[in-house]
Amino acid sequence: MRERGDNTKYGFPPLIDQQLPNAIPWDTGIADLTGLCISLKCPTCGTVDVPLRYLAAHIGHKRTLRSIVPKLRCRRCGSRPDSVKLRRMNDHGGGRPGYRASELDLLK
Ligand SMILES: [Zn+2]
Repeated sequence: MRERGDNTKYGFPPLIDQQLPNAIPWDTGIADLTGLCISLKCPTCGTVDVPLRYLAAHIGHKRTLRSIVPKLRCRRCGSRPDSVKLRRMNDHGGGRPGYRASELDLLK
């Protein structure tokens, strides 16, 4: 069932409240990782967070990080990102000073 106004190719999968896993879930369909997002750092445009829920809706629910990560480019300028990290959605520590969200490095 699609949400109102959802005209994406595959439809938005349900939002899951999940913790960052201990190991990178390379082969999990991204529709099962909707509590997470990819944080792309472009050399010119800065950091952009891309929710996996958004990617699932646009490129397919069964796509995996293994197939997606090597193809990621900055959506604004098309550059290869300097870094690609996996993190929880909206993990900003409530704005606490010095807080750093935990993340997994997808380019290592
Ligand atoms: Zn860019």
